[in-house]
Amino acid sequence: MTQLSQFVSGMDESVTLAAAARAKALKAEGRDIIDLTLGQPDFVTPKAIQNAAVAAITDGKASFYTVSSGLPELKTAFAGYFERYYGYKPAANEILVTTGAKFALYAYFLAVLDPGDEVIIPAPYWVSYVDQVKMASGVPVIVETTQAADFKVTVDQLEAAKTARTKVLLLNSPSNPTGMIYSREELSAIGDWAVANDLEILADDIYHRLVYNGAAFTAISSLSDTIRTHTTVINGTSKTFAMTGWRIGIAVGSPEIIAAMGKISSQTTSNAAAASQYAAIQAFSGDDKDFHEMQQAFEERLNTIYPLLAEIPGFEVVKPQGAFYLFPKVTQALTATGYTNVTDFANALLEEANVATVTGEGFGSSENIRLSYATDLESLKTAVARIKKFVIEKSKH
Ligand code: PMP
Ligand code: GLU
Repeated sequence: MTQLSQFVSGMDESVTLAAAARAKALKAEGRDIIDLTLGQPDFVTPKAIQNAAVAAITDGKASFYTVSSGLPELKTAFAGYFERYYGYKPAANEILVTTGAKFALYAYFLAVLDPGDEVIIPAPYWVSYVDQVKMASGVPVIVETTQAADFKVTVDQLEAAKTARTKVLLLNSPSNPTGMIYSREELSAIGDWAVANDLEILADDIYHRLVYNGAAFTAISSLSDTIRTHTTVINGTSKTFAMTGWRIGIAVGSPEIIAAMGKISSQTTSNAAAASQYAAIQAFSGDDKDFHEMQQAFEERLNTIYPLLAEIPGFEVVKPQGAFYLFPKVTQALTATGYTNVTDFANALLEEANVATVTGEGFGSSENIRLSYATDLESLKTAVARIKKFVIEKSKH
């Protein structure tokens, strides 16, 4: 048998992608599965964006490599767009276009971490952070938050986690999987703490516009010039423009870090797909109509489905303010139904209730499961009804 590398042997497959693949395979076998695994908008990419890519293909412009760090005209369009939400305009050498935000994160870790450097990651966290840090020879330092504290980390907790090797603090607001948003005051305190300790901040803002019911996103990098110089922002087109398949990520940071990340993309991916970059120019310069329709649909789904989920015996849910996930704590339901861990519970929901969710274990939580509400309302209602029936019936035995 082939001896695989230590590098790959030390990493796990993405649990979200694995859960989605399993749901897809069962559906292909003819099972009536409702798939709430993947965090990707169920909307098709808006027509104007699609057309921009088609034009680039038929004009021949999409046939060629682009500048590795991204098309200059895409950087210009993005800088204007970014300024609307962040209040400052990055220069071209402060912007890197990547093959998805996921790769931007990995390039960042490779660019800033030496072996043994620590990255503080508040839990629950998005699945890929921990493995990516390890893949870059760094050490993930997990700081547990509680549902009672809305899954937010405090400066005291960060102070307790800090060591001489701490290099980076990772923040993801709105959060995948909890949907929580840090307030301006919370971010100011955390940002000032990071600056005082000379740490780098990695702000994964990919859900920045997906906020609901009047909640507001604050960008930590906008809070002060000093915080900004310590921060690298990760963003992209996947969530805001329903473009997960196009693979466009964008990083904004100091020219030094951006150039270092750029070296990594130039030696690995060369450039993000040219047709996708032309599509992204349109996404960043077009109007907001399609986005607002999508946002309203997510908000309606959240407001409809959240109370129904909260009604399930043994489910405790904090109402999310952003992103498109619900992350119920199911410990009481586990006890009532006789399951000993959330992974077995999520598997049983798939096998017996025909609802695919993701175990909280992949997000650093042994108490929760994650449901994506980026799917149509009827399917969501049916899925929650199936879960409720499953819990009630199992609890009788
Ligand atoms: N960060 C978070 C928090 C995410 O949920 C995702 C999910 N796709 C990503 C980054 C990566 O996004 P993408 O690679 O599609 O741009
Ligand atoms: N970010 C999405 C999720 O959490 C997509 C899957 C992935 O990139 O891991 O479901």
